[in-house]
Parts: sequence; C-alpha cells; structure tokens
Amino acid sequence: MATKEPGHLLSGIRNRTGKVILEYVFLNHTRCDILDQTRVVDSEPRSVGDCPIWNINLWNNAEQKDSQEMILKPVAMFENPFFHSPHKLVMCDVWVSMETPSDFNTRVGCTKTMNRLDFDPVTGYCPEKAREPWFGIEQEYYVINDEGIPCSYDPEKFNYDTLVMYNHVGHPHNKNVGLERELSSSHFLACLYAGVKIGGRNRENGPSQWEYQIGPCEGVAIGDHLYMSRYILHRLAETFGVRVSFRPAPLPGVRTIAGGHLNFSTVQMREEGGTRYIMHAIEMLSKSHQQELFKCYDPSPDSENTKRMESQNTEHWIPKVEEFTFGVGLKRSTTVRIPKLVDMDGRGYFEDRRPGSNMDPYAAADVLVRACILGDFL
Ligand code: ADP
Ligand code: MN
Ligand code: MN
Ligand code: MN
Ligand code: MN
Repeated sequence: MATKEPGHLLSGIRNRTGKVILEYVFLNHTRCDILDQTRVVDSEPRSVGDCPIWNINLWNNAEQKDSQEMILKPVAMFENPFFHSPHKLVMCDVWVSMETPSDFNTRVGCTKTMNRLDFDPVTGYCPEKAREPWFGIEQEYYVINDEGIPCSYDPEKFNYDTLVMYNHVGHPHNKNVGLERELSSSHFLACLYAGVKIGGRNRENGPSQWEYQIGPCEGVAIGDHLYMSRYILHRLAETFGVRVSFRPAPLPGVRTIAGGHLNFSTVQMREEGGTRYIMHAIEMLSKSHQQELFKCYDPSPDSENTKRMESQNTEHWIPKVEEFTFGVGLKRSTTVRIPKLVDMDGRGYFEDRRPGSNMDPYAAADVLVRACILGDFL
C-alpha cells in the first residue's frame, strides 16, 4: 500500500464557488472524545478571529441530562489536510453561554494560569524566570480493532513481558506493522500540512503501539495542537479501517500501557546555566501535593492512569504513584527525568513521566506550572 497522501478522494475538484469548508473540532465532558461538525463560509478566514462562533447540541454533558445546547468559540485555526487549502480545521472550546465556560472547558483555566506567568509590577510576583512556558508531549497510542484490542495482540504467540519492539523495523511480532506505519506516516504528513507542531515519532514497545511528539508549543497552544493531532489521527484511522486508542491501560494486567510524558521549560531553563532553574522547578514539584497533581494528569472517571502505573512487570518503565524521584538520563522509572543531553548542555527542559496517554493537555500543563513555578500546591 502506498503512503496515503492526506486528502479527500475528490479534493482535486475545482472549487467554483470560492466558499470555504471549516471543520469545527471540539471536546465533550469526557475530555477524551473528540467531535466535529462541518460548515461552509463565504470566504477564507485570515485568522481564527474570522471564524464564526457557533452552537452545538452536546449529549451526556456534565449534568447528565440528555443534551444541551452549547456555544463553540474558535480558539485555533489549522490548514485542512482532508479538504486541502483554503479549507480549515478549527479548534474550539465549549461554553454554556458567552460568559460561562462549560465545566469541562479546562482551556479557560489553563489560559489564566499561563497569564499569571507575566511579570506583575504591582505584586512583584513571578520574576523573569517564569516567562515563556514551553511544553512538549509524547503521545503514545495503540492501533486497535473493533473489540478495542491492539490489532496485533497475540498472547498465545508472544510474551509481552519480555518482547521489546521499541524503535524496531520490519519486526515479525506484528503482522499489522505495515498498515500501522502507513497510518503513522500519513499522520505525520497531515500534521505538517495542517501546521500542527509534530516533532517526531517512533514505534513503541507494546503490540501495535506507536508514539509521536507534539511541541514545543508555548502555553495553552500545547492543548490546541495536541487535541488537533489526535483528531487528525482518528480521522485517518477511519480511512484505514482501524481505530486508535489513547487509553493508558487498554488491556489491564498485561504490559500494554501508554503514557503521555509532559516536557516543560521556561526561557531561563533554556538559557545558559538553566539547569539551576530546572532543579528549582523540580524541587518545587517534589514538595507539592502529589495527589492534586496526579488527579489533573488523568481525566478518566476510573483512574485508569493509576492502573497503568500500578500494572505488573513495568517497574523499569514507569514511575510509582506514591513516590517522587528524579534523575538524569536513562532512569526511566523516575517521576521526573532530566534528559542526558540537557544535563550535558547545562540547560534545556525536564519531563514529568506521570501523565497518561489520555491526558487533557490543558489541565496537565496548567497544574504543572501551578506546582513547579507558582507554588500553588505547596
Ligand atoms: P524521550 O527521550 O523522553 O522519549 P522524545 O524525543 O520522545 O523524548 O520527546 C521529547 C519532547 O520534548 C518533545 O515533545 C519535544 O517537543 C519536547 N521538548 C523539546 N525541547 C523542549 C523544551 N525546551 N521545552 C519543552 N519541551 C521540549
Ligand atoms: Mn442538526
Ligand atoms: Mn519519547
Ligand atoms: Mn514512549
Ligand atoms: Mn519521555
């Protein structure tokens, strides 16, 4: 199968009307489901501000009533890899009214927190060391079948506690690897086309497991880019006749777990001698109430990310829930890791390895900054 160029079958058709297709992308109360609805406007929006506010009926909202009419406010605009330019993808957040965000709209809180990082001449709080927060997220996922099981999962044949598939090519332990790589490659191209800040990808360790990286993005943009990248992957998976799962423990009990490492830096951490600021942030993080943080790293109602971290045979790969540890280099069981190159350079960023692959990036970025910079959880 040739690499699928992102794009609709008929996308070469000349658009005689000059009208532009906008695919609105938004979340529901789960903060995991991604929904879309498409509309047509008369001309190409120059920026997200040109995209009209819209309304939508959302089911199973937080009040658990059957459905409620909500308002979609466009917050970020991307090129549309499915219809091609000038058509757009429009990330929206969800409001109950023009003034009141929905209770699952974590973007609003995240924006407020990021704004607190600006120097305040009145209180004198938050000096330069906190400026320009950058985030990068390593998004792991599984390619799954209709039953929700990783496509190539075959416990009769393989012992997943001993198999290592990380970074491997042409591997016999996954008959599905060709299709999966095509999906991953198409996703890569589609994200680049859209302007979603994808930075890399790799095959992961589990059966039919892959990873890509988003970032670095400044502030709240990390959420816009990560959710849009998930949307594009779901859409491409439809075309391939498979599904993708961002659940952190799709098959409890076996080593099929998926994380979403959260990488972070401020401008001072990236400048010469930045390690000092990295160490300070990690110290602040270690003194914070870990349970508060951890809650914000997992939007699932049944603490599925905790199951990931407590699962068997994973001591070497994932941190413990209750224990805060940090280290340089390949200590991948640590809570917070400083990459070896960062240690060598004396500047850069650190990663918190606790968020699950299902993380809500707005909530996770928000709580990390509040813990390690603003000290809200001391
Ligand atoms: P790992 O070695 O943990 O597997 P990856 O290469 O998968 O690392 O991911 C590294 C992540 O760090 C990427 O998401 C990237 O965007 C992010 N990143 C790189 N530099 C910075 C930085 N200065 N600040 C924040 N995040 C960064
Ligand atoms: Mn309708
Ligand atoms: Mn990685
Ligand atoms: Mn990984
Ligand atoms: Mn990592």
